[in-house]
Amino acid sequence: MSSKKWESNEEIQIFREYLQIPTVHPDVDYTDCVEFLKRQASSLNLPVDVVYPAVKTKPVVIIKWLGSQPELPSIILNSHTDVVPVFREKWTHDPFAADIDEEGRIYARGTQDMKSVGTQYLGAIRLLKASGFQPKRTFYVTFVPDEEIGGELGMKAFVKTDYYKEMNVGFSLDEGATSPTDVHHLFYAERLRWALKLKASGTSGHGSLLLPDTAGVKLNYVVNKLTEFRTSQVQRMAKDSSLSAGDVTTVNLTQLSGGVQSNVVPPSFEAVFDMRIAITVDLVAFEKQIRDWCEEAGGGIEIEFFRKEPLIGPTNMDNSNPYWVALKAAIDELDLKIRPIVCPGATDSRYIREKGTPAFGFSPIINTTMRIHDHDEFLQADVYLNGIEVYKKIIRNLAEV
Ligand code: ZN
Repeated sequence: MSSKKWESNEEIQIFREYLQIPTVHPDVDYTDCVEFLKRQASSLNLPVDVVYPAVKTKPVVIIKWLGSQPELPSIILNSHTDVVPVFREKWTHDPFAADIDEEGRIYARGTQDMKSVGTQYLGAIRLLKASGFQPKRTFYVTFVPDEEIGGELGMKAFVKTDYYKEMNVGFSLDEGATSPTDVHHLFYAERLRWALKLKASGTSGHGSLLLPDTAGVKLNYVVNKLTEFRTSQVQRMAKDSSLSAGDVTTVNLTQLSGGVQSNVVPPSFEAVFDMRIAITVDLVAFEKQIRDWCEEAGGGIEIEFFRKEPLIGPTNMDNSNPYWVALKAAIDELDLKIRPIVCPGATDSRYIREKGTPAFGFSPIINTTMRIHDHDEFLQADVYLNGIEVYKKIIRNLAEV
């Protein structure tokens, strides 16, 4: 098979053109991306708006497909336009050339995470429009910046705007994950992101002495307790194969600082932990446990949770959620295998769920090696094209809710 077969496909051409726009961190320039998306909107004969919810360099592009009953709550088809940095020397293809190899693999940063999904939504709408389909509900295909750096100036700011309020959003679809098997992952919730800084203070003095209550001994006590907790989570995962990464709590020591030279016991040490907390954890008890450990260590430890997301309820997967019923019907008709899981990381869906709006994360990428944020990220052209068909069915069903 030759790559020529794919190069002449119009949908593949659109996808590759999007991939070739280097919306890569840090300091992303979104100008060409906005122009590209405006052209896509006009080729679909759909109105497009560009709003800047936070600053002039962070555009949100919104393509609107008006429903026949626009008073009904609308549906968001969201994707982020930014991609994470690359280590060029580790790639076998230029990460922004979108080369197609003989097997039909398209190589580029963003093929899996998640430019594919953005242009697949548009490809599906193109097919539906061509067939004369008219949605009952209004769809907004939203393209947001900065998801990869937390979405502070992107989706987080956008959901606070009057523009968003007027969209009257009832449901949202956003990114899922790449699956190496034929089973799709469906995110219905996300773990909570916490970050903890501990500053231990204690007796300082000469490095040759056994001084009481040193910062090092105190901090070591708490680090050990958190490490034991971490081990308990590793063991839970090992014992129960039904658990996925989103079902356990991760605690990782990510920064350590302090000290001046080897023979001086310093007056303080600092440690930073990244924590991703399972949605089943009792947050009050969890925090109290950490505070208790700091007291047991001898006190004098400043505790700062500098990131502390509240619990955001998961999206219901039962008959009380009509969008789920419609999505499930599409999944069944397409004979897709689905595994609902808690997203182990974080996506922009959390800002939508936080507003009480149901949201799922889903990417139609199966039988593909997971290369999200990795070198040689790629997507098979036929997997991409099949994904357009999947969205066609899903969008058609959601439109009729
Ligand atoms: Zn992503």
